Amino acid sequence: MNSKLQNITILGATGSIGTSTLNVLRLHLDKYKIYAVSGKSQITKLFDICKEFNPIFAVVLDITSQEKLQNLITNYNAENNNSNEKITTKILFGNDALCQIAMDKNVDVVMAALVGAAGLQPTLAAAEVGKKILLANKEVLVMAGELFMQTVRKHKAILLPVDSEHNAIFQSLPKGFKCGFDDLENIDNNKIENGIKQILLTASGGPFLHKDIHDLQNVSVEQACNHPNWKMGKKVSIDSATMMNKCLEIIEAFWLFGINDLLKNDDSYEQILAKITNYIKVIIHPQSVVHSGVQYVDGSVIMQLSQPNMQVPISYCLSYPNRFASDIDFLDFFKYNNLQFIQPNTQKFPCIKLAYEALAIRNFAGNILNAANEISINYFINKQIKFTEIYTINSQVLNYYKQNANILNQQFTNNTSDDNLQNLESILNADKWARSKAEEFIQILN
Ligand code: NAD
Ligand code: MG
Repeated sequence: MNSKLQNITILGATGSIGTSTLNVLRLHLDKYKIYAVSGKSQITKLFDICKEFNPIFAVVLDITSQEKLQNLITNYNAENNNSNEKITTKILFGNDALCQIAMDKNVDVVMAALVGAAGLQPTLAAAEVGKKILLANKEVLVMAGELFMQTVRKHKAILLPVDSEHNAIFQSLPKGFKCGFDDLENIDNNKIENGIKQILLTASGGPFLHKDIHDLQNVSVEQACNHPNWKMGKKVSIDSATMMNKCLEIIEAFWLFGINDLLKNDDSYEQILAKITNYIKVIIHPQSVVHSGVQYVDGSVIMQLSQPNMQVPISYCLSYPNRFASDIDFLDFFKYNNLQFIQPNTQKFPCIKLAYEALAIRNFAGNILNAANEISINYFINKQIKFTEIYTINSQVLNYYKQNANILNQQFTNNTSDDNLQNLESILNADKWARSKAEEFIQILN
């Protein structure tokens, strides 16, 4: 193996981010070796990836998928006499195998591109051994922001945000800002006032930006997945349509950029709400050309622009702190003579507000909101609830937690002290509770 090559594991190689990552990596195979990949059920796609890159490991969901992929590879090798072209990839399955390829001692970089809660344990495992983590899987931070960032710091992992908005904020922050180590008031921990006023988080507004509020309840899954600017996986597309995606991204920004350090232990719910609402400002920008940024106290605004294509932020993470080509068209400024910036309509898209509420409730609130959202999205996909009921369920579960937080926290932590509030076990307990609570509320709804 070429010692100059960086070994990369791609968790979720068959997905939308995984595919874009491979598109960028194809241009830079002099710098990267695709060491391990994973996919859930798209076995043919995973087989094609194995054929092209011959990774050391490929991980699938279960034994049936393992057998299918193994058969495809065995047949391919049997038909192929050229030993240089044989696939030597070892096929593994299950959650432990995902953690194994995230932690493997030969791996330098982990692209965390699973979707939802499935990504929590492998991404956390990568942080526990101090890997360089390129994080697309925002749910990890929503579920376990405190634990994950503590783990990053403790094991000196390098954390680079892939999500386009967070990548843009990262690019707009003072040079050298390190996620997990610096906070916005106090970059480099050296008490120098850096003059950041607020984070500007842009949002396309999704496919229903201009739809009448009364027509929203009857939209279909297909309409919700039909994003005007981005081609993405199903879950994140629906999140964009409800604007729950922006809610998750506010929480993601809160943890990535050390905004939690602005809060004091005795801050009230209202004080936290006010601080975070001031610090993270959401701006609707339907063209998705300006990808977020930072406002400084002198009135300067630094934002990052590009075509709406995830290969740009992925490329930045892969080449950081340098830059290399991402294989997309450069921005044609004269095509965009009408860039718009609009105030979000939180009456029409109430999910945005749930982020501030969850952060102000603290403890397991983000985690609970994420779990409720995964359940309500599944019910919406299966046509068992209406589009607007995603918000209803999410807010009901969050509110129930708010009203009963003391007793539920004890239940999640098995009555241990507050110090242990955020360990993996308590996080998984809270996640499980919120999923069944969401189902309970859905039954009542029907
Ligand atoms: P996707 O659905 O296209 O891909 C998800 C990947 O995870 C696939 O490889 C799938 O096989 C795998 N997977 C899904 N469930 C699994 C499970 N239970 N166990 C093991 N593997 C599983 O999703 P995506 O659009 O690529 O998004 C990935 C993450 O990146 C999400 O958290 C999303 O919010 C975030 N993100 C995506 C985009 C985008 O443009 N697609 C942009 C910003 C952030
Ligand atoms: Mg985003």
